[in-house]
Amino acid sequence: MIDQMTASLARIRFVLVETTHTGNIGAVARAMKTMGLSRLELVAPKHPIDAEALARASGADDLLERAGIHAHLVDALAGCRLVIGASARLRTVEWPLLEPPICARQLLDEAATGDVALVFGRESSGLSNAELARCQALVHIPTNPDFSSLNLAAAAQVLAYEIRRTAREDQGERLVDPPRDLATADELEGFHGHLATTLVDIGFGDPGQSHKLMRRLRRLFNRARPDRIEINILRGILSAAQGRKRLQAHHDQKPSG
Ligand code: SAH
Repeated sequence: MIDQMTASLARIRFVLVETTHTGNIGAVARAMKTMGLSRLELVAPKHPIDAEALARASGADDLLERAGIHAHLVDALAGCRLVIGASARLRTVEWPLLEPPICARQLLDEAATGDVALVFGRESSGLSNAELARCQALVHIPTNPDFSSLNLAAAAQVLAYEIRRTAREDQGERLVDPPRDLATADELEGFHGHLATTLVDIGFGDPGQSHKLMRRLRRLFNRARPDRIEINILRGILSAAQGRKRLQAHHDQKPSG
């Protein structure tokens, strides 16, 4: 059974309009596949899929093989309940302009029930006004205003990641640290007791000042949050230090000459 996230991602198309460089098409396929997206639609690509496209797809060949090829944008958008255009420029035309996270939110919400599309323009000139008119909204990746145009595949990667990030959030997925067998409060207590006696044994601890010193040492080890094995190693070191001290004391007591 496929989960809701996989099902929704499968309903989000990336539509590339009149792409010039086949390498960019391959790189978009890769960007999509890394984020769990699979539906690529090409509108009048300048060249057919070639070795350069396959090389840049580096393993996302299946998306290229299954990519639809259309003469017109409307054909690539057939059946879509929401169409958002990706624009490198902040246009003067009054069009709802979405931040990438809002764009991802809207695409996923609508993809829960039907097909949706994100449209990318030509490398040279982006999307025409007629093409923009087919979109319900535009998305712009905030960039340096003096240098705002991303490479096509880079823009696809950012928006694809934003979609996956949002979908994971919906599922409550997050990266977790590998589980650690942390030392428990009583084990830490045992360690600190051992440390205190060792400091006296080796002549470091000054009973008058030890209160303050022990508090600092506690703070240090609380910050480190040692695990069981680390505490065992530390206690081994303490035992060794105590043993050496005893040997040393024994040595000092031996009559000389
Ligand atoms: N020279 C073109 C930019 C083309 S970049 C222009 O000025 O419009 C190719 C496509 O990548 C764009 O049409 C757009 O779909 C996408 N893209 C590039 N930078 C983007 C950005 N900052 N925000 C959203 N989409 C972007």
